[in-house]
Amino acid sequence: LAGRVAHLGTTVFSEFSALALKHGAMNLGQGFPDFDGPEAVKEAARKAITDGVNQYAPSPGLRDLRVAIAEHGARFHGHTGIDPDTMVTVTSGATEAILCVILGLVDPGDEVVLFEPFYDSYDANVGFVGAKARYVPLRPPDGAHATWWFDRDEVRAAFGPRTRLLILNTPHNPTGKVFTREELEFLGGLCAEHDVKVLSDEVYEHILFGPARHVRPATVPVLADRTLTVSSAGKSFSLTGWKIGWVIAPPPLRDAVQRAHQFVTFATASPLQAATAAALRQPDAYFQELSAMYLSKRDRLLTGLAEAGLKAYAPEGSYFIITDISGRGFADDVAFCRHLVTEVGVAAIPPSVFYSPEHKHLGQGMARFAFCKTEAVLDEAVRRLKVGL
Ligand code: PMP
Ligand code: GLN
Repeated sequence: LAGRVAHLGTTVFSEFSALALKHGAMNLGQGFPDFDGPEAVKEAARKAITDGVNQYAPSPGLRDLRVAIAEHGARFHGHTGIDPDTMVTVTSGATEAILCVILGLVDPGDEVVLFEPFYDSYDANVGFVGAKARYVPLRPPDGAHATWWFDRDEVRAAFGPRTRLLILNTPHNPTGKVFTREELEFLGGLCAEHDVKVLSDEVYEHILFGPARHVRPATVPVLADRTLTVSSAGKSFSLTGWKIGWVIAPPPLRDAVQRAHQFVTFATASPLQAATAAALRQPDAYFQELSAMYLSKRDRLLTGLAEAGLKAYAPEGSYFIITDISGRGFADDVAFCRHLVTEVGVAAIPPSVFYSPEHKHLGQGMARFAFCKTEAVLDEAVRRLKVGL
């Protein structure tokens, strides 16, 4: 094994989905919907295949999809001025987008600032390029803070002369935090001071619960020329298996990403790109219904978790709920989640895997439940928690 992979085990998502299957558990672990995306979008994919959109797309992506990505950014987030020819690269999911941003911008020995808990591929990808991650923990809501928050001095202390990139994720997996404009302005000020670029992972951009509002970091003036916006079709269209993602960035930064992308996958599935263009052009009502559907699922699971005696933090966005499992007599979150999947019949994710070794303890009193599941599955999971916990 090469050193860059020797320390990596199987991802927690694969591990717990396999355990859920083996034990017949309700799978509220891995974040994928157990229902299908919109019929019109699936029809657009079938049509593209029938119409012969089946050979390599241009490496930056089908032009029509790049145009749709630019229009969508302006329509929903006030992100105007996206040039589809010089500012967009289509990738195999947000996952490839994240890797290509890091490959394109970060050298060995550079530093990347990450908020914890983090989506697990960030840390692994920073390791792939021989860079060093500097971690800043998000803190749960408490008497003084209504939402997840960070200590500004801790963020300042994480920035230094080798810092190249800050990775943001809003709405945030797994906490459901939505970064406010004020927080983004603070972070932008630090990035400007240290000449740091920002990777903004916005895959949950359409899953938001009022009063929180999605502020796209690229639209905050101090961040505009230094932000690479990453998103994908997976969550917004309940099509996580399609793996169509993209990066939007000012031309010099997009050029860095495109240089990497052309030698990572070169291009991604053409007919699914064509259908994603149709998906992004759906009427506003589609996107409103998506958020309304997830609001109802969120509240259903929050109520059920409370009835089962689990303290939960209500997310402002994304489709995850973090619960507090401290004081329930388990050694840590992994022990709790293993017990849950094997004995209670419900799969959840232990969040300590989204922390650095030095901060792992911060995740050990929590468990993450995904609510992108049908009502029948959510209700059965709650029933089992009430009986088995
Ligand atoms: N970023 C975050 C925060 C995620 O939760 C996920 C996975 N759901 C991804 C990126 C990966 O997205 P994709 O499936 O488009 O590669
Ligand atoms: N993003 C999904 C989650 O957080 C899973 C993605 C994956 O399986 N790699 O659950």
